[in-house]
Amino acid sequence: MHRIIIIFLSVSNILFLFAQTEPRIYTQQQENAYIFYVDSDFPTEIWLYITAKKLINFQASSMPLYEGLIQKNEIKKYLFQLKRQDNTKSASYQISSMFTIGNPLTAHHDNTYTYYFPFEHGTKFKLVQGYHGTFSHTGKNEYAVDFAMPEGTPICAARAGIVAMVKENSHIGGSSPSYAEQANYIHILHADGSSGNYVHLQYQGAVVQINDHVVSGQLIGYSGNTGFSSGPHLHFSVSLPKKNGSLQSIPFFFLRYDGQRISPEENKYYYGFQQGKKPFPVLYGSDLSIENFKDYRELIVEDGSIHVTTEQIDDTTIVYIHNGTKKTYSCTVFSKLSNMYSAVFLPVVHTVPPLSKIFITLLHPNQKKTPSSYRIYLSYKEIRS
Ligand SMILES: [Zn+2]
Repeated sequence: MHRIIIIFLSVSNILFLFAQTEPRIYTQQQENAYIFYVDSDFPTEIWLYITAKKLINFQASSMPLYEGLIQKNEIKKYLFQLKRQDNTKSASYQISSMFTIGNPLTAHHDNTYTYYFPFEHGTKFKLVQGYHGTFSHTGKNEYAVDFAMPEGTPICAARAGIVAMVKENSHIGGSSPSYAEQANYIHILHADGSSGNYVHLQYQGAVVQINDHVVSGQLIGYSGNTGFSSGPHLHFSVSLPKKNGSLQSIPFFFLRYDGQRISPEENKYYYGFQQGKKPFPVLYGSDLSIENFKDYRELIVEDGSIHVTTEQIDDTTIVYIHNGTKKTYSCTVFSKLSNMYSAVFLPVVHTVPPLSKIFITLLHPNQKKTPSSYRIYLSYKEIRS
């Protein structure tokens, strides 16, 4: 995580205001010099990087102004000084500061580690944007993953660590990068110096606090739609701190329900899985085939209606005819499919016995990037014997 802080000073006023989630940088004046210090109330070490955007009539003690580690809870740590050159002339400066949790000099990701999916055991969500995702997973977010999920979905720690940063005071979100600073998040520092980043959480959506030690799989908060977000989802990444004060996402592996270590793929559905918890039924829509519905016939109670019903499993739609009458019908099913295909050629004609629900077809999306839709039409006539 990083923040950009721009400080402008025209003559000698000193006014620095920071949110509580940032290190507090301040100055003390000594004759014709400004001495810069920082207070950090972070529970972990942070790395601070400060550069000069503009120095007029000031001489800096170092360039970049500061680049280094601030210990946890360190108070009045000396950073650098700016010395005024010519007292008869006006002087000004502008500096920019970035910080990140962790230590870029020692952080080294354990690539053998396998992460839990960041949601509850047995729940299933679609990975809607993966590594290199074209919507927003570029640059420092290159190796992030987005899971579509309703707001308020429980979020679990993918890996153990110390809660280093929490923001949960934002109500605001939208599908423009200008909302980026409005995202709520939790950052958890791992033992190897990397961090797990859980982003777009709902307002007051953290159940952990800064300095909490969490174990993998532990409930840490609830998903939302805050920040730069085109719809309710969780953005998760594993990152390493950089010496310029930014965080760079890195590739990592998830633990699948069958114990396999997998690299996350866009447009797939994944189950949360935590070792030692009780098994759950696994059903993926993409695995369904018409073979699963061979000779399918469900008896239903009389309701006098005949119509098409559907069932949705992931992105797969199962189509049935429901005949709640005591008559036999010859039914023709037509479709209008947009960016989808039917596992059974349509139109198709079926004889539907009384009080029965029979299987017609499976509809699968074609191209995963573009939206798909379907319409199903039914015509029927009674068969008299
Ligand atoms: Zn994302």
